[in-house]
Amino acid sequence: MRILDGKIVSKNVIENIKKDSAVLISQSGRPPGLSVIIVGDDPASEIYVRSKERKAKKLGFRSEVIKLKGSVSDEELSSVISGLNSDDGIDGILIQLPLPEGFDTWKYLDMIDPEKDVDRFHPVNLGKIVLNRTDIFPCTPSGIIRMLDEYDINLTGMNCTVLGRSYIVGKPMASMLTNRNATVTLCHSKTKDLSGILRESDLIVSAIGIPGFVKSSMVKDEAVLVDVGINRIDSLGEAKKLCDREQVEKFKKKGYAITGDIHPDAFKKSLFYTPVPGGVGLMTVAMLMENTFHLFKNRIRV
Ligand code: NAD
Repeated sequence: MRILDGKIVSKNVIENIKKDSAVLISQSGRPPGLSVIIVGDDPASEIYVRSKERKAKKLGFRSEVIKLKGSVSDEELSSVISGLNSDDGIDGILIQLPLPEGFDTWKYLDMIDPEKDVDRFHPVNLGKIVLNRTDIFPCTPSGIIRMLDEYDINLTGMNCTVLGRSYIVGKPMASMLTNRNATVTLCHSKTKDLSGILRESDLIVSAIGIPGFVKSSMVKDEAVLVDVGINRIDSLGEAKKLCDREQVEKFKKKGYAITGDIHPDAFKKSLFYTPVPGGVGLMTVAMLMENTFHLFKNRIRV
């Protein structure tokens, strides 16, 4: 088993952006601009937003977080989005998901100018992914493809199974793997004989959010295992069963640990696997920076 190391690959992505952006920033007279809208006070979302902001600032981007109360009106949220659409210094707009209960997520995602839609969740952009007519993709699946490429994993003809059908990960992932000539099965909570499908898979991407769901008995030897799940574990007994040693130590200090969807025993028989943390999550943030830079390049005239 070999690790697909998100630390190394994401660092390379960031280094390349740093190198490529210096000249363009000085030629265009402004940095790439990223705006993140966060509504309500979900603690996990706040952590994600802070890490995005930190990374963008480190790269010298204009990075702003617009924090709105959970009670924000439809009018106010709509006017924030349209203000950012017409702000020339902003290249990428992101609405941190999930929005609090009661908000019509699609209504606000639809309002983002597709040219500034840094997450690529606008229907126009998701449509272009399915049609294989774009070179910019949602951050998580894009980060996964980048990792697989870095480790020379040739997807052509591979039997790939994607677990989870969200528009954030599963659906674009299935399209992107298809566009790379893999044979793809997209599974979800209503799939029959999931274990049978997984056991035939050369590559599994799991994005369901259930700790240790994919057991060793469900995967074949030498499969490539990509774990997207980020699950918080609040009991030491569970942490010992489902987490690596580092996370068990973390539990002892902080009272919680993080693990993915794939059981550690399954990793042992894999050809490659992504650890959680240290895999896909780091790539997601790096690809957000790459997407922001991509949109910046599209918008500046130098
Ligand atoms: P989601 O939470 O919106 O939906 C879960 C999906 O899993 C659904 O499509 C559902 O059909 C499927 N599912 C649920 N139970 C199942 C079962 N028993 N068998 C098969 N399928 C089942 O999906 P999401 O937003 O893609 O998030 C999934 C996980 O990925 C979460 O843990 C989330 O935190 C994590 N995530 C991580 C990153 C990252 O950067 N690493 C990015 C996005 C999401």
